[in-house]
Amino acid sequence: MNADRVRARSLVAQLRDLRTVACALPDALVLLDRDGRMRWCNPAAGRLLGIAWPRDRGLAVAGRFGDGEAGTWLRQGRDDADDVASPVDAAVRLQPSLIPYGDHRRLLIARDISRVTRLEQVRRDSAALLSREFLTPLTVIHGYLELLDPGDVPGLAPVLNEMRTQSQRMRQIVEDLLELSRLEMQQHLSEEHLEMAPLLDSLRREAEALSQGRHRVRLEDDARADLLGSPKDLHSAFSNLVSNAVRYTPEGGAITIRWRRVPGGAEYSVTDTGYGIPAEHLSRLTERFYRVSSSRSRATGGTGLGLSIVKHVLNLHGAQLRIESEPGNGSTFTCVFDDARLLPLDA
Ligand code: ADP
Repeated sequence: MNADRVRARSLVAQLRDLRTVACALPDALVLLDRDGRMRWCNPAAGRLLGIAWPRDRGLAVAGRFGDGEAGTWLRQGRDDADDVASPVDAAVRLQPSLIPYGDHRRLLIARDISRVTRLEQVRRDSAALLSREFLTPLTVIHGYLELLDPGDVPGLAPVLNEMRTQSQRMRQIVEDLLELSRLEMQQHLSEEHLEMAPLLDSLRREAEALSQGRHRVRLEDDARADLLGSPKDLHSAFSNLVSNAVRYTPEGGAITIRWRRVPGGAEYSVTDTGYGIPAEHLSRLTERFYRVSSSRSRATGGTGLGLSIVKHVLNLHGAQLRIESEPGNGSTFTCVFDDARLLPLDA
């Protein structure tokens, strides 16, 4: 009897500790029953979600959130979301997630990510602003350099040629940054019919032109489907992968461009027999300016922004980028599209 009382006391103390910790958390915690009604919440839930315990005990939470982003997300029943507006104040940005526990109960956690979102916005705005500011002076300098004929001043010819190369490189970086900013700010996609056969043909020709006979280029097209999306952006993404394959494959290698159906969708892929990429770099390749080897990237005219552009274009189309690579043997970059993006061709 005594031992039971001691155990009960210790359990109560542990529960009290747990609740104290939950109350001290800066994230909103809300316990929901099987009908989505609130059983308990911590004080942060008041600040971030506008619900309080014990006042709102038994409240249908999705109803209280209304038609805003948070309410819509909760009604959809998805596990998590990257960024939704707080139902209390739209300027407060939240990252919510739903974790099932017990008998059909769920724990709603919402983290305040307003600061991170603001910093990200500042980063985006300054990258776009700086690129625009740089573009005009660079275009002027590049234009004048093009007018100067190295033949007129043979002593300066190597210097002039180097200046041209470098100014072209800077212009390419600025143009890629502007392209990325445009993609990041783009909310809506132009939903056009993109005919794959002529696009694949032109990608093959681009590969051959870049390779100048140094690689074998092959095209396999058996998807019998076109794509729905932004032709300009998809062309830019697909051609970035082709250009990388040529640039990171030594002379004598092979490059294969493929467009094929897979269960649930279709895949566009570019396979090369080039240098390959060590596994530890794969997860970071789509970060801005991330390069496995800076010298090799620069030597082949890279800006370090190509794969970020590819990733953004694919995100806008609800598609995924898959990267497989083996150092010394080559790489395959695959863009995976859902059925919803496909326009099948009649037999
Ligand atoms: P870059 O302009 O430097 O090529 P990307 O964003 O297109 O920038 O690619 C990032 C890095 O990924 C490259 O610097 C290179 O190290 C690596 N990479 C991309 N494609 C390939 C490939 N086909 N084979 C080997 N490495 C690649």
